Amino acid sequence: MNDNNWHSLSIEDIFKRLESRESGLTGDEVNIRLKRYGRNEIERRGGRSPFEILLEQFRNMLMILLILAAIFSLYIGEIVDGSLIIIIVLLNAIFGFVQDYKAEKAIEDLRKLSSLKSTVLRDGKEVEIKSEDLVPGDIILLGEGDSISADARILWEKNLKVDESSLTGESVGVSKESKELPRETILAERKNMLFRGTSVLRGRGKAIVVRTGMLTELGKIARDIGSIKEEKTPFQMKMDALGKRMGIAIILISIFVAAVGIIAAEASPLKMILIAIALGVAAIPEGLPAVITLSLAMGARRMVERNALIRRLPVAEGLGSVDVICTDKTGTLTENMMTVKRLMIDGEFIEVSGVGYSTKGEFTRGGNTVNPKEIIPLLRAGFLCNNSKTGYDEDGNERFLGDPTETALLISGIKAGLDKKRLEKEYKRIDEIPFSSRRKMMSTIHDCKEGRVAFVKGAPEVVLDSCNRVYEKGVVKNLTDEMREDILKANEKLASDALRVIAIAYKAEPLGDNVEENLIFLGLQGMIDPPRTEVKQAINDCKSAGIRVIMITGDNVMTARAIASELGIGTKSMEGKNLDDLSNEELRKRVEEVDIFARVSPGHKYRILHALRENGHVVAMTGDGVNDAPAIKASDVGISMGIRGTDVAKQTSDIILLDDNFATIRNAIEEGRRIFDNVRKFVNYLLSCNLGEVLIVFIASFPFILGRPVIVLTAVQLLWINLLTDGLPALALGVDPAEPDILKRKPRSRSERVINRDIAYSIIFIGVAISVIVLLLFYEANPLENIAKAQTIAFTSLIVFELVRVQVIRQKEKLSIFSNKYLILALAISLLLQLMVLYTPLAGYFKVIPLDIGEWIRILAGLLVFYVLSLIFGAVVKGAR
Ligand code: ATP
Repeated sequence: MNDNNWHSLSIEDIFKRLESRESGLTGDEVNIRLKRYGRNEIERRGGRSPFEILLEQFRNMLMILLILAAIFSLYIGEIVDGSLIIIIVLLNAIFGFVQDYKAEKAIEDLRKLSSLKSTVLRDGKEVEIKSEDLVPGDIILLGEGDSISADARILWEKNLKVDESSLTGESVGVSKESKELPRETILAERKNMLFRGTSVLRGRGKAIVVRTGMLTELGKIARDIGSIKEEKTPFQMKMDALGKRMGIAIILISIFVAAVGIIAAEASPLKMILIAIALGVAAIPEGLPAVITLSLAMGARRMVERNALIRRLPVAEGLGSVDVICTDKTGTLTENMMTVKRLMIDGEFIEVSGVGYSTKGEFTRGGNTVNPKEIIPLLRAGFLCNNSKTGYDEDGNERFLGDPTETALLISGIKAGLDKKRLEKEYKRIDEIPFSSRRKMMSTIHDCKEGRVAFVKGAPEVVLDSCNRVYEKGVVKNLTDEMREDILKANEKLASDALRVIAIAYKAEPLGDNVEENLIFLGLQGMIDPPRTEVKQAINDCKSAGIRVIMITGDNVMTARAIASELGIGTKSMEGKNLDDLSNEELRKRVEEVDIFARVSPGHKYRILHALRENGHVVAMTGDGVNDAPAIKASDVGISMGIRGTDVAKQTSDIILLDDNFATIRNAIEEGRRIFDNVRKFVNYLLSCNLGEVLIVFIASFPFILGRPVIVLTAVQLLWINLLTDGLPALALGVDPAEPDILKRKPRSRSERVINRDIAYSIIFIGVAISVIVLLLFYEANPLENIAKAQTIAFTSLIVFELVRVQVIRQKEKLSIFSNKYLILALAISLLLQLMVLYTPLAGYFKVIPLDIGEWIRILAGLLVFYVLSLIFGAVVKGAR
């Protein structure tokens, strides 16, 4: 199956070689082929194996130095110190490994979730499958915006144009055709082939898969564009830089501490060197980037549970500053479960009963049943100018496939007794001018007994503009201005009842050059699309979170307004056509006031987005079509629809709403804010405590206090502190719940950093406070007389202070200690481990002495001072924690 000449074979030959047929493969054949060819996947580069992750824990220079120094101390007989250091370093490495591995795995899981779907024919039925399950011989069906997931030969196409820029770099769309090509045709010119990684810009097609997975052209290049990109967030990069700068400062301090200690002959040179290196290992926040990645990845996982799939991790952080959401209406704010409720024929309204996609319903006028003859011409046109059909989902259930607007028209026809198979035979479709959001209409051309006929449907204003006659009770009349007025009024009436209105027209021979002009108007079909129940609350929440919600829709302004007022969105509206006359300056003013942009085309979306961004807003923008991709890409947070969205929209977006639901955006923003808060808490905690540790060791190495430098913390103790305080508690902060008022706050400004001025003050103040109080306790314990006791007090109080510090930071967010059971567990374990060190034979190894009640009281008094100082500081500096 490796040969490369699929483009030069006849379609029969291809079927023969791939042992396939028009109706597709059977389930058994697929299973055998999946075993033979494997899944349709591209092996990913860049992922790290668990072993690599483990090795990376030891790649840090300081870590290696520490291990070497520890081995050296073993060699010269310092068995206890040497082996303890090695054990703690190993424990630290295991911890780092767990964090890194979890982050890697969370990202990998997200990657798997973002896999694409393909529509294939299997056993003659249309089914939607995961693209990884495609096998050679599968028949795939393609439509606008679909991405192509395997290399395939085209069997049939209609106006098929494909974007191959991901393969060729060429941004112009390529027109495709099905006929065979000479064998020597070069790859770039094989117009009858489709390649993995490309996508359909326009038209439709049917193709047979010839190669999958690594055998595809893209597989050969081994680059997968459909996957999560592992970019670093701006914040992660800043943290990397900060870590490096802090690293240098801490190394200089460590060298100073070692030098002073050695000169003053306070301890053996080896011991001093060990302390210096341990200080470096403990105080340099080298684990910070990994923990941040983990927080982001865990946050992203929580978002998936709430139906928001993050495609780029950095966006999880950016979500917290979104202050405008531009959302489309159909399917996002509404159910996208359309049901025709009212028809307008000959100036009269006809009610249609039935709910949802049920095919049972009646047509009545003023309570009396309507004679089907009256309505058939209108319903038949909507029925035939239609690409919706019945098919099967992944689980084999029969359901309607296609655009819900068209499904509604199909169902209104079925209710009147129309039969798809029969009608499609009577009216053989020979061509289609596809629907686009820009044109807002669609036409099909059919051959029937009476000759050639065109059926047209679309937005009433647009269709009516193309009509010059009207069909009334079997007679075609000229369309007068008065009639036009009346139809538009009827349209407004339907729209103001929140109905989405489709106008329907036809044209008999001669069709002329432009099929879509001089049409005969048939009538209107108005369908309901109820607002999603949870959306009203979500919009309310957004408002109190300082986020403006703007509706941008292709639908009629009246329909849009009716839905908007039901949902509590403002009703100041503007139509797309008025937007064309505005300069950018004027638009910038208008976007600040308008709540609804109606009858817009995707190009308008882009302009609105730009105006908002120029005004300094951080904008989340939703979209689903191919033409929405530029706006999605240019927005701060691009959102696509998991169900309704085209693959192209999905691949350009930052977030995919798995349920297409607006409420999910609100949830994602909540999670985004939570992630940011947790990262901020964590950074604040880690840096303030580390600063405290460095200051303690640094200050004590000046001889001015006791006349000579003293060792406050041994190397083993420093490493132990690092293990206890940076490990579990820090990790537990990553899963901290959202503060109760998280959606009552205004959005964070785009330029606000994690370490803003107040947080920086807080890190410095707390760092200094910890060091001063711990040193006071240390000196008070008379280190010149009993160094072990003084060290034990410093060692223990530092750990206790740091553990309490976690809750002080959380308290500012009104989070009770009981709201995070992992944190309670983490604090309890850390405290227990410390007590174990103090009161078991381990004490000897750590060179500590068990503390008595009096000493504990001193530590607790220090703790109280620390706590009160923290509270006062938090009250004075508002944003500090
Ligand atoms: P939103 O942008 O909120 O999703 P929308 O779905 O109405 O709204 P479009 O899909 O751009 O936006 O549709 C614009 C208009 O085109 C609709 O209001 C309707 O009148 C008409 N229309 C929609 N779907 C079809 C279709 N399949 N065939 C013909 N006309 C359609």
